[in-house]
Amino acid sequence: MEKKSKKVYLIGAGPGDPELITLKAIRAIEESEAILYDHLVNPKILEHARPDTKLIYVGKKKGHHSVPQEEINQMLVEQANKYSCVGRLKGGDPFIFGRGGEEVEFLARHGFSIEVIPGITSASGAGSNILLPLTHRKYGSEVVFITGHKKKDGDYNQFTAYDLTNKTMIIYMGLTAIGSIQKELCKRENNCNLPVAIIEKATLPEERVVRGKLLSIEKLIEKEKIQAPALIIIGEVVSFLDEIDKIKKEVAQIIHE
Ligand code: SAH
Repeated sequence: MEKKSKKVYLIGAGPGDPELITLKAIRAIEESEAILYDHLVNPKILEHARPDTKLIYVGKKKGHHSVPQEEINQMLVEQANKYSCVGRLKGGDPFIFGRGGEEVEFLARHGFSIEVIPGITSASGAGSNILLPLTHRKYGSEVVFITGHKKKDGDYNQFTAYDLTNKTMIIYMGLTAIGSIQKELCKRENNCNLPVAIIEKATLPEERVVRGKLLSIEKLIEKEKIQAPALIIIGEVVSFLDEIDKIKKEVAQIIHE
């Protein structure tokens, strides 16, 4: 019988800024003898690995699709059979739109012990970095994390049901489908005028924030040539950014007087 791995770690690498990672994640990276990592993992985070650790990229190759999930599952099992400690490093949090559940299931079926180390999901990182709270007593008491990526033969009906009053909706992987999403959400008239913020490459030096209204979000994304990875935040809470800008201006004026 092949030697079974002591442990497989599913490690959250955080939203992008290499300092937004937990001490526990760093310890697991240091311990791992082989690490499989995604395209959203900042290369700086891999510097925590030991020099002899085998690093395996399983993200998108230029102009190609990502490695299929089934293949990643197989690769994980292969490495875990070879090494006593294997790390699976994923952008953000492994259990938020990261297919972490599928990997846990596959590894569990193969008899490995698994530890999941949470990471800061990109929605939290993005909000904090631009001083945008995702909940606020005045604007929003509910947060919805939703994906714009539909399963084969799926549709966007799930968006039609949303009344966004007093809610903050954060769309992951929403760029491609934004036209359909906008159309569905705007079927409720009171949603249409809600403010939106689109955050590209959140928490990284190249971060870009673009703001507008839900009813023209598709055009805005096109005009600004927003590229992945990007998050779309919709809800009254986005107007908090105006409030903070106003306060900053007022304070700057007082200081100059
Ligand atoms: N597990 C990850 C999400 C993976 S899905 C997490 O918890 O954040 C990939 C999507 O996440 C991207 O398409 C994008 O919508 C979002 N995302 C991840 N990193 C991002 C970043 N630095 N800036 C903006 N969006 C990001």
